[in-house]
Formats: sequence, structure tokens, C-alpha cells
Amino acid sequence: MSFSTLVNDLNYRPRPNSNTTATTNRTDTRSQVSRARSYASTAATSVSISGDISSQLHGGYSHPLARTWQAERQLTKSMLIYPLFITDNPDEMTSIPSLPNQCRMGLNKLVPFLTPLVEKGLKSVILFGVPLDPTVKDALGTAADDPQGPVIAGIRLLRRAFPQLFISCDVCLCEYTTHGHCGILHEDGSLNNTLSVDRVSDVAMAYAEAGAHCVAPSDMNDGRIRAIKLKLIEAGIAHRVLLMSYSAKFSGCLYGPFRDAAGSCPSFGDRKCYQLPPGGRGLARRAMHRDIAEGADIIMVKPATQYLDIISDAKEIGKDMPVAAYHVSGEYAMIHAAAQAGVFDLKTMAFEATEGILRAGATIIVSYFTPQFLDWLET
Ligand SMILES: [Zn+2]
Repeated sequence: MSFSTLVNDLNYRPRPNSNTTATTNRTDTRSQVSRARSYASTAATSVSISGDISSQLHGGYSHPLARTWQAERQLTKSMLIYPLFITDNPDEMTSIPSLPNQCRMGLNKLVPFLTPLVEKGLKSVILFGVPLDPTVKDALGTAADDPQGPVIAGIRLLRRAFPQLFISCDVCLCEYTTHGHCGILHEDGSLNNTLSVDRVSDVAMAYAEAGAHCVAPSDMNDGRIRAIKLKLIEAGIAHRVLLMSYSAKFSGCLYGPFRDAAGSCPSFGDRKCYQLPPGGRGLARRAMHRDIAEGADIIMVKPATQYLDIISDAKEIGKDMPVAAYHVSGEYAMIHAAAQAGVFDLKTMAFEATEGILRAGATIIVSYFTPQFLDWLET
């Protein structure tokens, strides 16, 4: 029975105070029809109410507060990690055209830039080193763990300036290699996994020893989580360094603005032989199982909104650990472009995208919207 039929039928039901004797004594046709319909509707209505009670949902979310209660997880400031691009030119502060409102900055700009954000409740950042001097790049990515380089100097600076701020470091070689790939290469241009893992784990150690709270390898070489964990244990610092793995990092075109920001575009080929193919759900699940077994404390899915099923898988596979998602540069730029074109309101879509990521299962979100969320979550 449809709802409109139900309402219609209710109109024919006898009122408690009505004179039912008078009603039943009527002999005109209209009365007979009414009685018949009344009788039928009474039976049907009681079946309908008991049978379809679960169809009545609106009462559960009519109030704004009741709507927030419908979410398993609500966005809070502590869930957000803000990506920072630190260059080797100390006074640099350059906007990144393809990544609206985001800048590459030098060490001298870092504290003034972050101070108001920390005051508004920023809890965590993730650092990406961006060497602008092309002469520092080589085949081994030597500059990645240069003690005077932007990341290690940045860790030390931020630890001093903001003792409560949680400092994560992306660990990869692509910003520092002449070829722009995420490891050390064989002669034929393919990744040399053994050498790459050695090198990437050394870089992670350098960041951890400089004071990073978290190292986050994004290179996707096989076995690098195990190598980093073992080196952390060997150095006696595994108890104070969180290992966040970019476990399910998919290849695709959503990283374009990031590559503009970080100068990490490969000089030849692409990353399809180590980043995951977009259709590879099973492969992503295997990578997540592997990284958990190798000692990851957090597993990450990247990108986010095109991969909500993978985030959901991560929550199931890593049910006893936090799950992170990286809402990447291309996702962020698309929302900006569409808002600019009048397709939707920027803030509304930023919340909708981020809440979708939470709903899928993530509780940590790396987001370029972080500065705005610090304002928006205030109200
Ligand atoms: Zn890389």
C-alpha cells in the first residue's frame, strides 16, 4: 500500500466520537461504499503500519544535530594532515598555479606561515622536499637525506617552533633524482628494487633521527616497510616513530598539480610498474595485507574519492589500525575548478568529499583543504 493510499484510507476510518450506529443504519450507496472502504482500510492500514514501519525515516534526521548523529565518524581537526612543500631557497614563497591557495615555501617562511594555523588547531603536517637547484639531483637521490636539505632542516625547525605539532615526512626519491622515478634504476630504466629499498629506508631513517614523528614511504618499492621497520628497531627508535605506508597508491592523472608543486615528473616513462593500476582492487588488498605484516602502523589509500571502495577494504583489512586517505592535488584542483565554474559551492563540496572519505572508513585525511577546515570546523 502506498503512503498516499494510506492517508486517503485514514480519512474514511470512524472517528472515536462518531455515532457509529447512525452511520451503519444508513442505506444509501455512498454510505455502503464508505463502510466498505473503511473496513478495508482498517485492515490494510494496520498491516501497512506494522509491515512498513521501517519506511518512516525522516524523523531520525529532521534536526541538524540529529543529522550529524547519522555519521559513524565526524570530521575533526585532529583527523587532518596538511601537506607542505619546502624548497631549498630559504626565502621562497611561490604560489602553485595548478594547486589553488597552495605555496612552495622556504624555511624562513615556514614558521610565520604555520603560526596562525597552529593557533587555529592544526595538529599535523606532512613535509615534501622540493629542491629547486637542479644541480643537487642525481641518479641516487642523494639530496633526499642531506642534513642541510629542506626536509631535515624543516623537521628540526618545526620541532623547536611547534612542540605540539605532529611532523610526518613523505619518504621518496623522485623529487631528488635526475630521472624523476621513485627509486634507483637498472640500466634498462626499470626500478632496482633491492637498491631502492636500501636507499629509501636510509632516507626514512635520516628523517626519523632528525625528529620526525612519522615517516611515510610513498615510493611503492616492494619490501620497503619491512626494511624501514627493521632499521628503526635496530637504531632503537622504533618505539617513537610511526610508520605510515602509502600501501594502496594508484597511478593515474590526479597527481598533476602535485608534480607541478614538487617538480617530480619522471623524465621518461611513467610509474605504472610500481604504482597500482586503477582497476587493481585485489592487488591493493594484497599490498595492504603485506604492509601490515611488514610492520606498518597506518595504511594509506591514495587518491581518495575515486577509490572509496579501497578505503573501505583498508578499514576491513586493517580493522585494528588507523586508515589514512590522501585527498590528492587533482581531486582538490577539480573541486576548485568546478566551484569556480559555478557548478557547486566550494565549502559544501569540500565537506561532502571529505565526509565521503570518512564514511568509507578513513579516520586520517591528508588534505589541501586543511587550512579552510580549521576555519570551517570552528562554526
Ligand atoms: Zn616518488
